[in-house]
Amino acid sequence: MKRPIFLDHNSTTPTDSRVVEAMLPYFTDAFGNPGSSTHKFGWEANAAVETAREQVAALIGASADEIIFTSGTTESNNVVLHHYFTKYGVENPEFIFSSIEHKAVLEPIHSLKKHNQIIHLLSVDGQGNIDFSELEKQLSGKTALLGLIYANNEIGTIQDIAKIGELAKERNALFFSDAAQAVGKIPVNVEHDKVDILTISAHKMYGPKGIGALYLRRKKPRVSISPLTFGGGQEKGLRSGTLNVPAIVGFGKACEIAKSEMESDSGRIKILRDLFEEIVCGKISDVQINGNKKNRLPNTSNLTFPSIKSSKLASELKQIAVSAGSACLSADNEPSHVLKSIGLTDEWARKTIRIGIGKYNTPEEIEFSANYLAETVQKLS
Ligand SMILES: *Cc1c(COP(=O)(O)O)cnc(C)c1O
Repeated sequence: MKRPIFLDHNSTTPTDSRVVEAMLPYFTDAFGNPGSSTHKFGWEANAAVETAREQVAALIGASADEIIFTSGTTESNNVVLHHYFTKYGVENPEFIFSSIEHKAVLEPIHSLKKHNQIIHLLSVDGQGNIDFSELEKQLSGKTALLGLIYANNEIGTIQDIAKIGELAKERNALFFSDAAQAVGKIPVNVEHDKVDILTISAHKMYGPKGIGALYLRRKKPRVSISPLTFGGGQEKGLRSGTLNVPAIVGFGKACEIAKSEMESDSGRIKILRDLFEEIVCGKISDVQINGNKKNRLPNTSNLTFPSIKSSKLASELKQIAVSAGSACLSADNEPSHVLKSIGLTDEWARKTIRIGIGKYNTPEEIEFSANYLAETVQKLS
């Protein structure tokens, strides 16, 4: 069977061949443990890790000593939330998040929250943006952590992170952002955005799976977090365990490529996404585009077809790979909390699919896929 056209790049991306190329020597000849300080094997592995650390830092405007390698955004988020929910030395601390955080934020909160801790979940408008004045009201001297998803994985809505970071700074609140979908697609700069803690995954930006980073600001303020795992003291004691050198090297390479090519890739991808929506909307009148049309990830299209259930539609769409409803939880039947937060009913949330275009998709693929989707919706309605 011919493989479908992959249009689910918000769930993961193929690894760029230049990234694979860069990784290969670190499986074979240069297999050393970067923690070995007595021989060349260790030195060359350590040098490669430190180069990667600089490449990751450079992409987000950080310095290398502010980057901790982890297995990805889920782990990074968990370390951060574990610290602030279990080690924060203030009575009755308050936390602010949005209602459209990824499960990799909402679930740790759910499992860690204690009775004396107050959590404000900011609502979002119909486009998926938080209400700035609600945030202004909730931010107080008791806020232990403000955490907001940089760009939403389902609807693509980008928050006004720099404006929010400015307010957080004024109010002396620590600002944490899950940027798994943003980094590599749009410019992210921790200085400009005044973010103190930021989390990333390599596999969302053409790097390997199972590797990512935690950015922790070193100055003004110096963010200090307690570890979840203990052992050899790697990554400044924050994440013990022998480093995954090939994956780290690949992550670094993916960041280097993104830094030089992201702008042109995203420009091209946005044209494809807009073409996709134009074709679909031209053929189907009964369709709703979700998310903030003016400030959305360039690759993301979240579409509701009120005439058909997305589970049925997705299984019928054999020639294209798209996501039905909530991506990471395609297995569970709960309608997406993100779609509900922007005002969709359960029923409409179950009639929504997400398309995530990637840098290897061609205009021909996009034209074919849009027509094929529209025809399939017509056929099933
Ligand atoms: C993919 C994703 C995650 C989880 O990343 P992992 O690499 O699976 O740990 C977290 N947050 C957002 C916004 C994501 O898109």
